[in-house]
Amino acid sequence: MTGNETRVLVVEDEPTIARAVADRLVAEGFGVEVAGDGPSAVERARAYEPHLIVLDVMLPGFDGLEVCRRVQAERFVPVLMLTARDDETDLLVGLGVGADDYVTKPFSMRELVARIRAVLRRVGRPAMDAADGGAVRVGEVEVDERARRVRRDGSEVHLTPTEFDLLACLLRNQGTVLTRAVLLEQVWDWADASGTRVVDSHVKALRRKLGQELIRTVHGVGYSLEVAS
Ligand code: CA
Repeated sequence: MTGNETRVLVVEDEPTIARAVADRLVAEGFGVEVAGDGPSAVERARAYEPHLIVLDVMLPGFDGLEVCRRVQAERFVPVLMLTARDDETDLLVGLGVGADDYVTKPFSMRELVARIRAVLRRVGRPAMDAADGGAVRVGEVEVDERARRVRRDGSEVHLTPTEFDLLACLLRNQGTVLTRAVLLEQVWDWADASGTRVVDSHVKALRRKLGQELIRTVHGVGYSLEVAS
C-alpha cells in the first residue's frame, strides 16, 4: 500500500464487473484491490486495511453478509453493498448487516463513485458540536452528537455512521416532517432523489434498534422524530 491514497477493496465474483469497478476507481485516484470470494475478502480486508469496501452480496465461499460481520468484528470499515434487487436491500437492512449504503445492480460507474465519495465524506466528517455540549434525550433514547453515541434505556446502542447521521438529522429537526428527498440530500449528500428506498430502509433499522415509536411516518410526506415529552 502506498502514500495517502484512499484504499478501496472491491469484493465481487463476476470478473467483468470487478474489473470495470476497479478500473474506474483507479482512474478516479483510489488505490484498489479485488477479492472474488468470501474468505479472500476477509483476508484482504485484514492485510490491505481498506478505507471502504464495495461488497457484493452473493459470493462463493461465504456471502457478503458474513464478510461484513467478520470484517466489522475486527475493526470498523464503511461498507457499500451491491445488491441484486431493491427487495434484497430491504431484507439486508432489516437484518442489520451494518452496511452504510446500498447500490442495486445494474448501476452506473458514475453513480457508484458518487456514492463511494459520499460514504467516505460522511464517515470522515468530524462529530459536530452539539449546541449545548450535552446529550439530548427523546423518550428512552439519549443521543450525544459530539461523541456520536446513542443509548437506549441507559445501554449503549451501536449505530452505523449513516444510521447515526439520519438520527441526528431528524433530531435537529425534531417535530418537523422531513421528506425523503430532504433526508437523502442532508444525510446521504445526494441531490437526486431516485434512491429514496435507502431512507426507508435506514428508518427501519433505527426503529429496530431504538424502538418503533421514535420515528413517525407521515404517509405520502416523510418522517419526523417525535417531540420529547
Ligand atoms: Ca455475485
